[in-house]
Amino acid sequence: MTKFAIRTAFAAALFAATAFSQAKNVILFIGDGGGVTSLNAASIYGYGKPQALYVQSMPSVGLADTSTAMEWVTGADAAASAMATGRKGRNGVISVSFDDGKGAKEGEVYKTVLEYAEERGLSTGLIENNKEGLLYEMVSAFYAHAGMGNEELDIYHQFLKPRFGDGPDVVLATNYKKLNDQVTGGIDAMGAEFKAKGYVFARTMDEVASLDPGKKRVIGMFDGDDWDMTAAVKLAVARLSGNPKGFFLVVHSDCHLAKTRPSLVRLIDLDKAIRAVAEANKSNTLTIYTADHGYALYVKGERATEALKSTDHKRIVDAIHLEDQHTAEEVPVLAIGPGSGRVKGYMSNTDIFRVIMASYGWNEQTAKR
Ligand SMILES: [Zn+2]
Repeated sequence: MTKFAIRTAFAAALFAATAFSQAKNVILFIGDGGGVTSLNAASIYGYGKPQALYVQSMPSVGLADTSTAMEWVTGADAAASAMATGRKGRNGVISVSFDDGKGAKEGEVYKTVLEYAEERGLSTGLIENNKEGLLYEMVSAFYAHAGMGNEELDIYHQFLKPRFGDGPDVVLATNYKKLNDQVTGGIDAMGAEFKAKGYVFARTMDEVASLDPGKKRVIGMFDGDDWDMTAAVKLAVARLSGNPKGFFLVVHSDCHLAKTRPSLVRLIDLDKAIRAVAEANKSNTLTIYTADHGYALYVKGERATEALKSTDHKRIVDAIHLEDQHTAEEVPVLAIGPGSGRVKGYMSNTDIFRVIMASYGWNEQTAKR
């Protein structure tokens, strides 16, 4: 080690150890397509003014690059893998290495932050309202590993056979009909498999709410995708908080719905869910909000009348441009709680992994931010 390297390593360790207090729990909220322009539009639509969302009041603000190792514009798979593993991947691949044409070994498994948490005995959870539910890449990249052309049933089997610990403890997700069709015996057979893995299997939010708090492992699979996000997040946090070692929770909300109003309403609802838990738990819980990618949804206003500060919902929607496209620009990373000070400036979506790891106090080499 050179003198410089020693000094740098020492400074990094000092920075990590002293500048920030340690987080017991981390909650990562991901708004699909919920980038800077979508947050701005949601605030104006929902509250008639800019910067009125809770996430826009979070003290730490960074801007993360979302490009993949191969593409300027990311898909859900590469974005989730970057946050989960701290490595840039490529679209179509989750949490494994890929053939980059430079002789990289294909299919090498990258350990995810959820797996680190499971290994260390923390409780873990996933909340997902995308129609693909538990198998949607934004959450599956945290528990599964698969290359190009991965099979849904394989991802499902990886969920049932976790590599570390006993896998996610609380899962609240949309019921994915395609998976039900693929699994022999459908939803009943899945329910039996979940029970065999020690889960209570619930089909409605009310059922989850009425469960004995002593039931630590719960899978809720709800019909439709418009269930109450705030209720889901509160129920998950209440159950996961029982572990004295702490918890890690990923919440993904699909705010990328190809239509203006539903996308904005989803984002506003997600923001309410974040407000409901982040503030109350900020003494020991790092809460992060980010987006998987930018989305071509923004308030436009070339003509003076278009730009007028109307608070009428219809006029606001009329002034919003929406093209159902992912975009390449940086996405906000907003944070509150212990370790949130590591979120700042222009960063990479892979830094989200490092911020979480460092905030738990894990892995010195990755504790730089
Ligand atoms: Zn998306």
